[in-house]
Amino acid sequence: MKKLLDNRLFRYLSVFLFLNSSILPVKSSSALAAWAINTNGVLELRTKSNTNLKAYFQKANQISGDRFWIDFPGELKNPRTINGNGPIKEIRLGKPDKGKTRLVIEFKEETYLKPLTWQMVGLDQNRWRIKLFNSKYSFKKIGEGLVEKKIGNIKANKNLIHKKKNNYGYLKLPEVKRNKFEVVIDPGHGGPDPGAIGIGGIRETDVVLEVSKIVKKLLSEKGVKVRLTRTKEVDLDLPPRVSIANNTNADIFVSIHANASRGKRRDINGLETFYYRGWRGRLLAKRIQKQILRVSPGSPDRGVKQGRFYVIKNTRMPAVLVEIGFLTGRLDARRLEKITHRKRLAYAIAKGILEYLDKVV
Ligand SMILES: [Zn+2]
Repeated sequence: MKKLLDNRLFRYLSVFLFLNSSILPVKSSSALAAWAINTNGVLELRTKSNTNLKAYFQKANQISGDRFWIDFPGELKNPRTINGNGPIKEIRLGKPDKGKTRLVIEFKEETYLKPLTWQMVGLDQNRWRIKLFNSKYSFKKIGEGLVEKKIGNIKANKNLIHKKKNNYGYLKLPEVKRNKFEVVIDPGHGGPDPGAIGIGGIRETDVVLEVSKIVKKLLSEKGVKVRLTRTKEVDLDLPPRVSIANNTNADIFVSIHANASRGKRRDINGLETFYYRGWRGRLLAKRIQKQILRVSPGSPDRGVKQGRFYVIKNTRMPAVLVEIGFLTGRLDARRLEKITHRKRLAYAIAKGILEYLDKVV
């Protein structure tokens, strides 16, 4: 059950979750009033004021292409499908459950999307925008209703404007020479060995596997060949992890772990990165440590240290072991539970790796 839940979490990447106090009664009509997808790839929405929205992204599978959808409270009257153009295959308006409205945007197969960078921005109490694709795609505007229609006498209260800043702006990933580098990422533990167990039962194996998979995706997008030592919950001893790495021409090896403190002290939090020896390992550790700290404000810098962990001691390439926080620590555990934080950490690790590859290899 637990595993099923984790898989779901990974497959259904929740782009954002906007919670608001006012929830419309089930019987009311759809909160979606108008929508438009502009030529520049921006989806604009007009809803009832203070609407509770949920948005999701799902990678393509055998049944459909990449899909992005938003659920609105209130029931839709006429479910319909609208043909797309450019990168969009079709747009569907449906009712997944009684009392709900779902707007689904399905993309064509060859579309290159970056859902990890998507941010829904609330422009006003009833207006939203999110950029879904690049203007390099030629796309003719599609929409229904007027998204800019003003609503009666409700003035936008500056304090009520919900703006989500693009958190990843400062985490822009550097470009490296494509198809030149190879990296082995080692998600710690797995299978019968869950690693550290933290507050609320959060398990190291789950956290580090998810972070590792996102790191792989981000690096692959930059043309870096990535090998994961494990891709699911399997038992994997330390020697095979090392031989996987030593049997490739990998430039670097990065083992990802999360910490636990003795006695499960909730006041112990922080991040640390280990290398075994050599300036390359040390530099890689420094780059990664610097980036993970940036996305973990308030969590202590436990530093870049030398460590004799089996996987970094026995691998032939520069190798580091990164501890992305304490699952037993109050501050870190609360963050590590969240997919948004796991994504940020993955971005940070990928950035540290790319910076290193660009400078050193
Ligand atoms: Zn560990």
